[in-house]
Amino acid sequence: MDANRNKVREMSIARTMERLRKNNMEAAFLPSAQDVVPMLRSMLEENCTIALGGSMTLVESGALKLVKSETYRLIDRYEQGLSPDELRGKFVEAFSADVFLSSVNAITEHGELYCVDGTSNRVGALLFGPKKVIIIAGWQKIVPSLRDAVDRVKRISAPANAIRLEKDTPCVKSGHCVAPFCDDRNLMAIPTGACDAGICSNMIIMGRQPRKGRVSVLIVGEELGY
Ligand code: SF4
Repeated sequence: MDANRNKVREMSIARTMERLRKNNMEAAFLPSAQDVVPMLRSMLEENCTIALGGSMTLVESGALKLVKSETYRLIDRYEQGLSPDELRGKFVEAFSADVFLSSVNAITEHGELYCVDGTSNRVGALLFGPKKVIIIAGWQKIVPSLRDAVDRVKRISAPANAIRLEKDTPCVKSGHCVAPFCDDRNLMAIPTGACDAGICSNMIIMGRQPRKGRVSVLIVGEELGY
């Protein structure tokens, strides 16, 4: 990256981390994806129970491979052959995990985390349950405002995830949401009936946290996930 552009990026990341801390979250910058696993090793206690939010970032950063090792007790939502009831059981068990490991769809420079889910096990556990939440996010997920966070989901995160999950949604065909632009008065308004197979059911904004340090955000200086 050009040095001047990189300087601008560094300032945006620093601003974002400062505001996350003001919102009672811990924040750290990791220059590359290779720094994620050593950082997690330093944060995770042996034998702790770990649950996961569905995330390409966890795969690309090596975090998923790490937590599948014998050092930890993984509540494994990816276990082969789970029935729908068993999978639901894993999602419910996640609420009592020591650690919930996930990414988010966007991070605003105001220090907010923004997430949109279909099943919503991820957004549920981010808000309440696990003692500790660790978010891993590539720097490209930083946006100036909530409005930009909503646009990011409609134009990048949701279409890419819908394609990955082989959903039959309008964004799979067009590459953007059926309601592509963020309407300031109706942030996630989707015309009724326009996307019945969608993955955008519940949206959360995590602002100031009631318990200081429950949420840690690791911002990685490489693009990761959607
Ligand atoms: S609401 Fe539907 S069309 Fe819009 S981004 Fe979500 S899945 Fe795609």
